[in-house]
Amino acid sequence: MQIYSGPIERLIEEFTKLPGIGKKTAQRLAFHVINMNISDVEKLSNAILEAKKEIKYCSICCNITDKNPCSICSNKNRDEEVICVVEDPRDVAAMERTKEFKGKYHVLHGVISPMDGVGPDMIKIKELIERLGNQSVKEIILATNPTIEGEATAMYLARLIKPLGIKVTRIAHGLPVGGDLEYADEVTILKALEGRREL
Ligand SMILES: [Zn+2]
Repeated sequence: MQIYSGPIERLIEEFTKLPGIGKKTAQRLAFHVINMNISDVEKLSNAILEAKKEIKYCSICCNITDKNPCSICSNKNRDEEVICVVEDPRDVAAMERTKEFKGKYHVLHGVISPMDGVGPDMIKIKELIERLGNQSVKEIILATNPTIEGEATAMYLARLIKPLGIKVTRIAHGLPVGGDLEYADEVTILKALEGRREL
């Protein structure tokens, strides 16, 4: 049953598709937008469109970027023989805040999670393996989160990469189990990085 007029219903429906937005929140957002003045609505919709159009994946590390390759991949002062593998672009930002890691990154954009129907082919694993075939790499640091899915993904990657003759390490759990790299402070991340072990 349609309670509101068509355009409002469509707006509510679009908001409902966003993560963490239920029907009630979607309705609140839709009515908020309708009450905003037109220039603020234009700013909001333009910001969404521009972010989507201008931000792309780096062809090397798969991080989000507005130029390709990204600023980290094109930085000649960083060691490209050490690659830190993370789940999410926000984890790169968290690692960068430590100012200690001087290697490069690879962003998986997720973890293997059979419960959620996410298989290995649905995250950026193929891109990582191809990259290892194209350049010389001495060490892969697996910095997925210490969750069940993060651990399983790290194990999966270790099994895939070790036969290539590359050293594979896992960050230590200075990070709380079930915690998120994104929310960890610099010291915790630094400790985790120092205490990494070979897999
Ligand atoms: Zn990159």
